[in-house]
Amino acid sequence: MKTVVLKFGGTSVGSIDRIKKVCKIISSYKKKKNKVVVVSSAMSGATNELINKSKLISNNFDKAEYDTLLSTGEQVSCALIAGRLNHIGFKSRSWLSWQIPIITEGPHSAARINRVVSKDVQNYLKNGGIPVITGFQGINNNYRLTTIGRSGSDATAIMIAKYIKADECIIYTDVDGVYTTDPRQYKKAKKIKKIFYDEMLEMASLGSKVMQPTSVQDAKLSKIDIKVKSSFVSKPGTLITNSSKAFSNQIITGISSTKNDAKITIEGVKDRPGVAASIFKPLSQNLINVDMVVQNIALNGKETDLTFTIKSDDLKKTEKFIKSNKKISYKKLSFDKNVSKVSIIGVGMITTPGITYRMFQALASKKINILVISTSEIKISVLVATNQVKKAIVVLHKEFKLD
Ligand code: ASP
Ligand code: MG
Repeated sequence: MKTVVLKFGGTSVGSIDRIKKVCKIISSYKKKKNKVVVVSSAMSGATNELINKSKLISNNFDKAEYDTLLSTGEQVSCALIAGRLNHIGFKSRSWLSWQIPIITEGPHSAARINRVVSKDVQNYLKNGGIPVITGFQGINNNYRLTTIGRSGSDATAIMIAKYIKADECIIYTDVDGVYTTDPRQYKKAKKIKKIFYDEMLEMASLGSKVMQPTSVQDAKLSKIDIKVKSSFVSKPGTLITNSSKAFSNQIITGISSTKNDAKITIEGVKDRPGVAASIFKPLSQNLINVDMVVQNIALNGKETDLTFTIKSDDLKKTEKFIKSNKKISYKKLSFDKNVSKVSIIGVGMITTPGITYRMFQALASKKINILVISTSEIKISVLVATNQVKKAIVVLHKEFKLD
């Protein structure tokens, strides 16, 4: 008998009709003699509505109360799911995070699950019941409710799977898997059958918003295989795993791109120790996320140019921090708002030489100018003008035979 954790995202439980459909999916697992645990998000829009309410009360809403408020969305969806399962003849009950308990650590709104006390849930499973557990939340040492970051129900499902030693964790969402690139941007994008955690992490943090990146990290650390599937259509999804069994010999697994990046160049910066640190210190203190960074070798040994990227929303603030920074001197400061990062991702590049060359050559063949380059073991990223992103994706998709 297999134990499966089924997680449903907000759109999957977005209406009464959807909840009834989801209960049919749950019952199909039960009929195949699985032990089934359900983890659910709030109905889509519910969490945003609660956030808006808190803002109407105070623009400085207490953080602990904020989590108490936000966690109610999942209470509603889970009770509705359990209620429906009862209605169609299954033994089921909802479980709020504190009733389990799911123990978290860290600040409100950004806590992390530390431990799941799974005894009661396990007993209930053994007796044929279907536990329906609230995603996205837990309690801390002071018995206050916490939430674990937007879209956190993925992480809840993975931690539950870990603690009850589930055989499978299936994330039901509104897309039917992970694609080689955004299918809305490029019609020839293909569904990926299997992807390594590390590749998925790069894809997830680069904008293929199928899963929350921290939960992919949790899955990797706990060695839980994840299946991503659609709750809207019955199709095979994508398996996220570390097992290299039956992997294709594809070198590049996917291509992703970002939106709303901005590039900043500081020319003629005095080249001495601590300069980069003093430029980035105020940015990090103000939670401005710096992405690509390049510094040129100082030709005259005295001055250097520094280029880095941030989100364009942060551009104004960043400009202010640099201009008011008394610790640095420079000759020229310039900005470019219309840039985007295009990345190719694949563990295959570790063992295959020449990938960088093929990427650059393909881009050159379409006259796409590369502004900044950065690489990691399994990813090569280039910064290009935003209006060339689509062209870049098309040519790279072809070059690496993903079409
Ligand atoms: N309901 C929460 C959110 O909207 C958590 C989740 O959806 O996973 O962020
Ligand atoms: Mg959600």
